[in-house]
Amino acid sequence: MNLYRFGLALLFLLCVNWTHGELRDVVIMQTTDMHGVFEDDDDSQSSSWLRIATMVRRIRQREEGKCILIDCGDNAQGTLTTALSRGMAGIIPLKTMNYDVWVPGNHELDYGVERFGELTDAVKDIVLCGNLYIKGKEPFLAWRLIERNGVKVAVIGATASYAKNWLLADEYEKLHVEKAFQTLERILPQIHQSKPDAIVLAAHQAWFEGSDTRGVNEISTIAKSFPEIDVILGAHSHRLLPGQRLGRCSWYMQPGCHGEYLGVVRVTVDTDRHVVVAVEGNVQAVSADYAEDDELRNALADYLEAAKAERKRLIKGSLARPVKSYGRPGVSCETSELICRALAEATAADVVLHGRLSKADLPAGHVTAQDLFELVPYENSIVTAEVTRDELAAIVAEQWRHKTHYSYCGLWGADAKITKNAESAVITTLWKGEWPANGRVKLALNNHTAAGSGRFTVLRGILDKPACHTTDTKIMTRDAVEAYLAKRENLVISVGR
Ligand SMILES: [Zn+2]
Repeated sequence: MNLYRFGLALLFLLCVNWTHGELRDVVIMQTTDMHGVFEDDDDSQSSSWLRIATMVRRIRQREEGKCILIDCGDNAQGTLTTALSRGMAGIIPLKTMNYDVWVPGNHELDYGVERFGELTDAVKDIVLCGNLYIKGKEPFLAWRLIERNGVKVAVIGATASYAKNWLLADEYEKLHVEKAFQTLERILPQIHQSKPDAIVLAAHQAWFEGSDTRGVNEISTIAKSFPEIDVILGAHSHRLLPGQRLGRCSWYMQPGCHGEYLGVVRVTVDTDRHVVVAVEGNVQAVSADYAEDDELRNALADYLEAAKAERKRLIKGSLARPVKSYGRPGVSCETSELICRALAEATAADVVLHGRLSKADLPAGHVTAQDLFELVPYENSIVTAEVTRDELAAIVAEQWRHKTHYSYCGLWGADAKITKNAESAVITTLWKGEWPANGRVKLALNNHTAAGSGRFTVLRGILDKPACHTTDTKIMTRDAVEAYLAKRENLVISVGR
C-alpha cells in the first residue's frame, strides 16, 4: 500500500468512527419461573420476589429512565401461597413492581383455561404472548415498542407451544396455539417497519445444547433463523444461563428459577443507524443482603397471611411411621403407594397409574398442610378411563420404557409381567379379583400424565379413544390424599397388596 492509499484508508477509518450515530443504552431486567417464591418461607432460602423487588428498585434508581422489566412466566404455581389464591398471588408483583412485560408460562394454565383468562385479564396491559390465546377472547398482543432513553426496543412475547401434550382435549380445544416460529414469521415484517433500534424476544421456552426431540423448545431454531433478534430472554427449563451468544447475532440469557437470580442486560445501540452495537449482561444472585421490599410485602399481605396459617394446619389422621419417597413407583416407593391408594379411594378405581411428584417424605405423626403440599406440589386433578386388559398392558409397558424418567408412573391394583426391553407386558392379576365381564377396568391417573407430555403417546392414544370414556373428575390429587389421611390414625404405608 503506498502512502496515498494508506492516507485514504486512514481517513476512511476515522470517518467511520466519527460518523457513527449517538450511542445510547437501555437496561433490561428479567425474572422467570418464580413459582410463587415470594418470601424466604416459600423456599426456605434467602431468595425471593420480595428481595428481587429491592434489587429492581435500586437498579431503576441508578439507571433512571433506562429500564425495562420483563417476566417470562410460571408465577401462578409452586407454593401454598399460589395454590390458595389459585394463582392470583403470582400476579401481584407484576402489578406492584410495574413490570413492562409479562409472558405467561405453561404453569399459568394449571388451574384451567378459564382461570388462565382471569389471571391474564388482571394484567392485560402488559401481557405479550403472540402464539397462544383463548378462543372467543381477544388475542394477546404479540409485541410492543417500548421507548427508553431515546431507544426504541421492540419486545416480542411467546410462550411454550406444547399445550396439546400438557392438557386433555377438552381444555386444549379452548385455546388457539401456534409455534413461536410461526408467530415470528408473521410479525417480524411489521416490527421491521416500525424501525426499532433493538429487537428482544421474551419467551417461556428454553435453549438446549442438543436437539429437543419433542420440539418443546424452539429457541435454537429461532436464533438460527431470525438473526435480527438481538436478545432472547429464556425460561421454562429452570436452568441458570448467565448470557451467551446464540446463532450469528442473538444473545441469550436465562436467570434460573425460584427467585434465585435477577437477569440484567445492557443493550447499547446506535440510534441513527438503528443497530445494536453491544450487549452485555449477567445474572445477579439474590440473597439476604437485599432487604425485603415493603411495598410488595404490603400488596401481598393477605396472601402471605393465609399461607402462613395454612402451612401450620394439621391434617386429621396420623402416620405410624414416615412415608418415604425413595424407590421405584409401583415397586418400592411409599409416596407413590400412598397417592395411588388415595386416588383409588376417591374415584373407586380398580387400578391406578401414578408416580412421585417430588422428593419430599411425609413425617410420622401428624402431617401439616405444608408437608402435604410438598408431596403434591402440582394442581393435578384425577382422570378416570375404562381400559381393556391389553390397553392397560400397553400403557404399563410404555411407562416401563421411561422408568428412569421423573414422570414415570407405576402400576397399582394389578400385577404385570414386562418383557426384558419393555416391548410388551401382560397383566397377570387384578388385585380385586376377576377381570370384569365387560372386559374393562376403571383406571385412575392424574390429568398431567393423562395428557401424555408428548412422551407417553401410547397412553394418550388409548385415552383419546371414545370407548375409554376418559373423564376429568375435577377431584384434586392433593384433596384426595388429604381425605385418605384424614380417615386413618397410625397409618402404615407399605408397598404392594
Ligand atoms: Zn417453570
